[in-house]
Amino acid sequence: MHKILIVEDEPAMQLGLRDNLEFEGYTVESAEDGDSGLNKILNNSYDLVLLDVMLPHRSGFDICREVRSQGIETPIILLTAKGEEIDKILGLELGADDYVTKPFSVRELLARIKALLRRSNSPAETAEGGNITIGRLTLDFGSYTAFESGREIKLSHKEFEILHYLFDRRNQAVSRHSLLEDIWGYEEQPTTRTVDNFIVRLRQKIEGNPNSPRIILTVHGYGYKMIH
Ligand code: CA
Repeated sequence: MHKILIVEDEPAMQLGLRDNLEFEGYTVESAEDGDSGLNKILNNSYDLVLLDVMLPHRSGFDICREVRSQGIETPIILLTAKGEEIDKILGLELGADDYVTKPFSVRELLARIKALLRRSNSPAETAEGGNITIGRLTLDFGSYTAFESGREIKLSHKEFEILHYLFDRRNQAVSRHSLLEDIWGYEEQPTTRTVDNFIVRLRQKIEGNPNSPRIILTVHGYGYKMIH
């Protein structure tokens, strides 16, 4: 059975989450502050962590950063407060896998938990073999084909190359400069604006909502990061 850690300082919220998760058959542990939450993650094995952002002693962001810097890949869903739009993006850049905004529906949270557990339990996919799902598209990097709901979608060679490049470096920030150098090469002399235009087009093809990207994130002043 899957074991979930809840790091949340509001007793009512923690209790409500625990009841719902236990009802769904999950084993639940909890922590009330940032320090004990981090300790539990570092010293135990969980299948997933629900992590509040605003916590006593240590924020959810600090915990995220620390956990990932230790090489721990446990899926993390951030619990953010309304109006923390910037924080969501920051959280994903720090290594969180998803977020829900309070007040959230339990049904939505449970769906996200299930999706994340499914993803992390499936065998590691590689770019070399088999199909890879990125956002709305299923891609085969071997044959350069892309499908959306079973229908083939046209992607240019460069678009495939960019997706492949970002996928190979998924969950890491990739600079515009390295994209330019490795995808375009020195000969063509495109500008960083070219890269940005390609990313805009790719987001329209893969993101659920291209205006609020959750797969290819912008790392301000640097480049991009694919969340996968
Ligand atoms: Ca809190």
